[in-house]
Amino acid sequence: MYDYPFSSELMPLWYFFVFIFGCCIGSFLNVCIWRIPRGESIVTAPSHCPKCNHEIHWYENIPLVSWLALRGRCSECKNPITIRYFLVELITGILYLAIFYKVISNAQPLILLPVCFALIMLTICTAVIDFEHMIIPDKITYPAMVFGLINAAFFPELWGTSKHFTALLFSLGSMFGCTLIMSIFSIAGEKIFKQEALGWGDVKYMAAISACLGPTAAFFVLLIGSVAGAVIGSGLLLFSKRIDHGHGHATIPFGPFLALATVLWLFIGERFSGMFFR
Ligand SMILES: [Zn+2]
Repeated sequence: MYDYPFSSELMPLWYFFVFIFGCCIGSFLNVCIWRIPRGESIVTAPSHCPKCNHEIHWYENIPLVSWLALRGRCSECKNPITIRYFLVELITGILYLAIFYKVISNAQPLILLPVCFALIMLTICTAVIDFEHMIIPDKITYPAMVFGLINAAFFPELWGTSKHFTALLFSLGSMFGCTLIMSIFSIAGEKIFKQEALGWGDVKYMAAISACLGPTAAFFVLLIGSVAGAVIGSGLLLFSKRIDHGHGHATIPFGPFLALATVLWLFIGERFSGMFFR
């Protein structure tokens, strides 16, 4: 049992704060999702309406509220703003709240929170960008790998050891092992199917997951992601023409399924792994 620095009477307030915090992070993720695949900087230049170039004021940028108040339209040109902005903020808020609730109610160490929060950022960016652009940018997978390694070095207890250097080695080993195996899959897949079956973005995403969560999690994510991809993907191929991206053959991004499996792991992973999330 861990001693939490907040009293139980104030718990509803904490849940509220965590939800709002998640929605704000979701708002930042919307910026990343728009700018990173377009090669734009995520820190400089204020946001503009992509259609009329109208600068978005701070009061038009309040998570959830602004999209509803503007009824999903730009205040200047009245062109529709995709509901994705609202959904990303809402889903990030809900996931942050849910992971916070899970950690608190299972009396788990609070250090799990930043790890889970960061991984939720990674999964949402990966899912949406891969769905819209068929890529998983290096700009999100490389920082996630570095985060995983640093996190292991600073909080070795996450890797079931008390030694900082040992945990870093575990994380490094897990990352390189996964990269090696996934690279073999990717190259073999390309030889067998005569087309890219497993993209390098997927390989790097899996490497990041291995560095952050360890080999058991990576195996789980790959397995569940593949099964979900095969089941949902073949369903989509049967009923939709939307996923043909003009390559002559229909392709489905793998990233959203890997992301889904990662989120699932964050909630039920400790049932499968003795090492991480103990
Ligand atoms: Zn506009």
